[in-house]
Amino acid sequence: VAPDDLRSAPANQRSVRRHNLGVVLRHVADRGPRSRAAIAQDTGLNKTTVSSLVGELIAIGLLRETEIEQRGTVGRPALPVELAGARVAGLGLEIGVDYLAVRAADLTGAARHSAHAAVDNRGRAVGEVFEHLGELARGALDELAAAGVVTAGGVVGVPGLVDSDGRLLVAPNLGWTGVAVPELLAEELGSGPLPLRAENEANLGAMAELWEGAARGLSDFVYVSGELGVGAGIVIGGELYRGSRGFGGELGHVCIDADGDLCACGSRGCVETRVALDNLLERAGLDRGAGAAALAERAEAGDERALAALDTAGHWLGVALADTFNLLDPRGVVIGGYLGRLADWLVPGIEDEIAGRVLAAKWGDATIVASALGAEAAVRGACALALRRVYSDPAIVVALAIP
Ligand SMILES: [Zn+2]
Repeated sequence: VAPDDLRSAPANQRSVRRHNLGVVLRHVADRGPRSRAAIAQDTGLNKTTVSSLVGELIAIGLLRETEIEQRGTVGRPALPVELAGARVAGLGLEIGVDYLAVRAADLTGAARHSAHAAVDNRGRAVGEVFEHLGELARGALDELAAAGVVTAGGVVGVPGLVDSDGRLLVAPNLGWTGVAVPELLAEELGSGPLPLRAENEANLGAMAELWEGAARGLSDFVYVSGELGVGAGIVIGGELYRGSRGFGGELGHVCIDADGDLCACGSRGCVETRVALDNLLERAGLDRGAGAAALAERAEAGDERALAALDTAGHWLGVALADTFNLLDPRGVVIGGYLGRLADWLVPGIEDEIAGRVLAAKWGDATIVASALGAEAAVRGACALALRRVYSDPAIVVALAIP
């Protein structure tokens, strides 16, 4: 063994152990209550190592032994272990066009705090929005601290382009450009060691679907988010795919008609020119601002213009998603936001286009489902993303607990 290897060996062992703690924690999170033997068998780690890792995770409060009795074993069996929710939580925040939302969720996904403020952020100064958001965040952090739950970090969902360092470059529907979201929030919170970042709301919707929604167990899927515009969060191999600079997932600006209508982005024939909510409402003969619920009501009543508008939207969304399937071969699509509310009428058209346009369509069926998380998808995904660092290094909760 070379001297260099000897010196680095303890550090490597520590980092291998940290990694393995994360592997065991994630395994139990994904698969539910498990015996140590099952964890060893499934992860390929040896039984002694798993026992020691499980012991450490129990000691730091991230796992606990279940009450379930094991039958048919001789002697005092080690009980299966499950996630313990009381130790650590992720803070999720969202700046929507017409609301602010906050949620804190623990490792099991259980809500520890939740608040929502309906407020039009378009007409407010940026400073005023952050003052309000800071107030909501402090409410959550105080409640967590009082309950002895440590906060792993905070993620702020925004309706715009976020670069790979977590900075908001532009949010057209808020009228914001170059807003330092994490820094402004940290100022409101009196800084502290809490890691904060911003993330695009469609990416967060995808995280929520992966964590606790329709895409649980799917490692490759696309989440389509209908807010004012249309966006997408892409998950590949169980991880969010943001693109090289963080700008991927702009499904709303995928071209479906090269000579089509001018889009707000400056291009022509983008998905948003046919599928954006205002556009849909107009085609259905409703006022802009009537909302997706009003359109759904018309469709339920069998209104022909509403049904035709939805039919057209499903067709065009399907054309764009068929390209997505040809390019990325996802296992499924989850439709969220206002599009999720209208999914009953959109999905048949989407399925038709996928069946007709995707080269590999006949070798496997694509799952197209509506999100069940509704307007909470982004803020739930923000909690999930904030908790991710606990899975990559579970021992950080010990450091976080020291004030
Ligand atoms: Zn466009």
